[in-house]
Amino acid sequence: MRSFTIGRVQGIAINIHPTFALVPLLVIWNQQQAGGWDASALVFGMILTGLVFACVLLHELGHGAMALQFGIRVHDITLWPMGGVARIETAAAAPKVEWLVAMAGPAINVAIAIGLLPLIVLYGLLRGYRSPGPLMDEVFVADGPGALLVYLLLVNLLLVAFNLLPAFPMDGGRILRAWLTVVTDRDTATRVAVVIGQVIAAGLIVAGPVFGQYSLVLVGIFVIVAARSEGRTVRLETAMRRLSVGQFALWDSGGIEPTRTVPHALRGGPRDVVVTDDGRVVGMLWRGQVLRAMRDGLESRLVGEVMDRDVVSADARDSVFDVQQLMIRLDRWAIPITEDGLYKGVFTGERFMHVYRQLEVGQARGRPTGVFGQVSQGLSDMLRAFGR
Ligand SMILES: [Zn+2]
Repeated sequence: MRSFTIGRVQGIAINIHPTFALVPLLVIWNQQQAGGWDASALVFGMILTGLVFACVLLHELGHGAMALQFGIRVHDITLWPMGGVARIETAAAAPKVEWLVAMAGPAINVAIAIGLLPLIVLYGLLRGYRSPGPLMDEVFVADGPGALLVYLLLVNLLLVAFNLLPAFPMDGGRILRAWLTVVTDRDTATRVAVVIGQVIAAGLIVAGPVFGQYSLVLVGIFVIVAARSEGRTVRLETAMRRLSVGQFALWDSGGIEPTRTVPHALRGGPRDVVVTDDGRVVGMLWRGQVLRAMRDGLESRLVGEVMDRDVVSADARDSVFDVQQLMIRLDRWAIPITEDGLYKGVFTGERFMHVYRQLEVGQARGRPTGVFGQVSQGLSDMLRAFGR
């Protein structure tokens, strides 16, 4: 099921997942459980839910805006029934920047909560209350503007507390890891943060039934799965940082010369081809450009006339991780690899997927056994699929 985009803020796409349609149904169901059909209570429930998700969205936009401040790419923000997810490329960011990006979300909810306080006081004064007591009494019996303001304040405080839990995928997990990277490397910091998160999750799973709050059990399971998934991602990242891209580049018969004709570039099938002159990279012939040139009847044109001269190369000694990040930044899925300034081969998105799968197979050797292990593995695979 694909999310659909409802708008853009500062270039960040705001998506809604199709399962979000369950939210109004849940509100109606909840209302019915609470005491049958009551139009005004239903409207109140819908408005409150809408405002809660607006706060969740502002929280995610806080992360996004801070990331943009540091020139970090923000893919999009997606609203799910259980909350919001901002996809931000913080993997290559400095720990301090990752910390600031993680803090920006909860900071927004703190700001909203502080902003609501004078409104609540004003509402109480307008109602002629002299102390908070009568207002609280009103909140518990009537759905009105007073209840709306107080509930929103509580929701924002809950969002802050929940997101600051030091466990992945919550912001607190990222904040904890950023602190740990002061004393150790990112891989170890992640591992420690994952374990701390899982201990907290286990605590939630135990505490849930004790306090009769069964939703804590679900949160605990979710945290355990997400922490595992984060640990995996970072392990893969670390492995990719250790591999140099040179060994995975395809030689591709040394690229193509600019004096060749366009159809010659297609002899190995339509693909992105590096243009080289005397062993040096001079341009890139993008698959799409070649096909367009052919369609426009420009078969006789030379590669040098059609090629993209504005091409960025990577060094054979650069890590697979750095080159993949570069490809994401450039929005290109093929990049020439050079060694001492001379063309060595082309690294493509497919090559990257090949490396990624190899590493994943290597990691899967330590796959968990037992029912819980299998379930958590399945959920973690599902989570990663969501992340894509
Ligand atoms: Zn957050």
